[in-house]
Order: sequence, then C-alpha cells, then structure tokens
Amino acid sequence: MRKIDLSAFQTATNFTTRDINRRIVLDLIRTQQPISRADIARRSGLQRSTITQIADQLIAQNWIEEGEAGRNIRGRKSRLLQLNLERAGILGINVRPLQTTIAQADLNGRFHAQESFLTPRDPEHFVRELTRRVRAFLAPRPGIRWEGIGISVPGAVDQRTQRIIFSPNLGWRDLDLSHELKQVTGLGVTVENASNACALAEIWFGRAAPVRNLITVTVAEGIGTGIILNGELVHGASGAGGEFGHVTLVEDGLPCPCGNRGCWERYSSNSAALDWHHQLEHKRQAIPEAMHGLSFPELMQRAAEGEPSAAAALDRAAHYLGVGIAMLVTGFAPERVVVIGEITQAWPRVSAIIQEIVRRRCGMYQAVELLAANEADQPRLRGAIAMVLQHYFAAPRIA
Ligand SMILES: [Zn+2]
Repeated sequence: MRKIDLSAFQTATNFTTRDINRRIVLDLIRTQQPISRADIARRSGLQRSTITQIADQLIAQNWIEEGEAGRNIRGRKSRLLQLNLERAGILGINVRPLQTTIAQADLNGRFHAQESFLTPRDPEHFVRELTRRVRAFLAPRPGIRWEGIGISVPGAVDQRTQRIIFSPNLGWRDLDLSHELKQVTGLGVTVENASNACALAEIWFGRAAPVRNLITVTVAEGIGTGIILNGELVHGASGAGGEFGHVTLVEDGLPCPCGNRGCWERYSSNSAALDWHHQLEHKRQAIPEAMHGLSFPELMQRAAEGEPSAAAALDRAAHYLGVGIAMLVTGFAPERVVVIGEITQAWPRVSAIIQEIVRRRCGMYQAVELLAANEADQPRLRGAIAMVLQHYFAAPRIA
C-alpha cells in the first residue's frame, strides 16, 4: 500500500495552486518567449481565463510585458508576452579559492556586468570584503529591481541555516556568508555548494536537451558532485548530501585534508594529477601543491606534447575520475553526467578513458551520456543565478 507523507502534504497545500500556476506560466514565457496567451493555454493545459488573470497580474508586477502582435491559430491578432528584462537583476556570486566573481544577470540568465577580486583567505576578512564589494556593485545601478542573490561556494552548505559547514580548500568552517549581505542589501540570499550550482546551471541553461536525472562532477582543487534526481537536487537530511569528493575510494589510501584517507578527490583532482607527475619525475613522496613547480594547465600541455610522465599522470587522474563516475552511474542511473573543470580541455583523451571504465563496470547503465561543460559558460556563476530564478519560476519542463 502506498503511504502518504503527511508532512510533505502540508507543505504542498501551503504552496497554493495559484502559486504553482503562476510559476508554470512564468516558466513557459521564459523558455518559449515571445508567446501568446493562447499558446500558453495550449501548452500548459490551464484555462484561458486563468492565463489571462495570471498574465494581467504579471504585467502589473512588471515581470512580463506585451511585445509585438502575433497571430494565433484562428488568425486573430494578439499581443505576444515576453519577460521584462528592464525590470530585474539577479546578483550571482562565485566564490573560488583564488578568486571571487560578482555578476549581474537578467531574467534570461544573460550576464550584463561582472567583476572579480582575490578571495581573502581569512573568513571574517572575506565576509567584510564581499559585503563592501556587493554594496559598491549595486550602488551605480539604482534603476534595477534586484530579485535576490545566489552564492556558489566550494564546500558543504547546510540548507537549513545557509551556513558553510566546511570548505576544505579554503579552510573555512561554520561560516555565515548570507547574514551580513541580507542586512546590507535587504535581498534574499541563497548559498549552495558549487557542484550543486553547476547541476542547476545545467538544468536551467544547459545546451543539451533537458533531462530529469543528471550528475555534475566538478574537477578542480578537489572533486565535487551535484546530483539531480527526478528534477530535484539531492540535499539529504543535513542539506550537504549528494557529495562524493570525500567518499573513500581506496581503503587506507592517501591522506586527505578532510582527515580521512583514500578520498576520491585525492586520486583525480588537479592537485592529485600534479602529485602523480611529481612522484613519477622524482620518485618521491607527495609534496604540497605549492612545491610542484608546475600548474595543472602546464601538466596538460606537457601531456599533449607527449611527455611520458605528464601523460601518465593525466591518464591516471582520468582513470580514477572514471572509477568514481562508474560508481555514481551504477548507484543513481543518471541519463547524463557532465564533467566541469580544466581537465575537460583534454576531453577526447580523458573522456575515452572514462567511457571505457563506465562501459566495463556499469553493464546495463552504459547508455549514460557523458558530456564536458563549457567553462566559457561560467557554470558556477550561472548556477548562482539559477538559485535565485528557481524561487520564481517552475522547474524547467521536459518537452
Ligand atoms: Zn577527504
């Protein structure tokens, strides 16, 4: 017998039919604009009178505007609806260990302005600097109605408190980024793990056809994963779930800054590849990244030029990337896995290694589509924009 979760039912009834219909209409306008009221009715299955009511309200609130006249199927003229891009600004912030970027996007997710600054390592200094920068960013843009702020961070985020639980690559623990920003700007602030942000970006702005089950794997200083199942981000009870970078891949393996041994990211992150390379060159133990004397892009360049130890190090990192991805594919049966990071610049080489492992290990799930994200699309920053958009728009529909 199917059990009904009454607590979930309570939440669903608080979120009224009117809200849901409004989000559906807004999302159809976002994805299909310019679109007529009749087309919205046809695609959504909602009553024409409901559409008229919602559209009038959205126009009054300046969310949408009437554009040029189009003809409907009966040949009658009607004004087409489109998003009012004059109205809204969304502030996206991408925090990375070296650099933080602040950007303004419109309701279509297009960037209009962005600026970057070096990320201060001291967390209190960072919060002060971020707040100061955001205030300075908003000041010369008085005509824009800001809808909210989305922040993508490299670390685990408690979804209830919106605090960063732990960011191993920045060394930050239990940090509140949002409180001061909320106070200063009066805007809502959403904080999300960077890999989750990338998964949201893929769902909202991805170039490939939309899917409901998708995993993003970000490869940088560490490894992060964002998991979307049945169209929803996996957060778990703490809000920090769906994260596999610190899952033990090798029992009693390499020590990890998180305190465990054998974590996946110790075997296939950029710094892991540099570690392999150094060991192959010097036959010595792993050393801190600052002592490698080589950057990850340089390592990839040397691999491309055929330097044996660079090629072996890159291939080994790709191998372990494949081992981890095969585990995720077997466990979650996603339709698509998207890899994000500098390693995708060697995609033909890297993807061939991953595909081979997935083919050998995943049996029935090998139909999974493996893609590389385009770094030029700024997936982490776009994800920060999507965090805000998802408060207003229904989740994108599958055509
Ligand atoms: Zn770890």
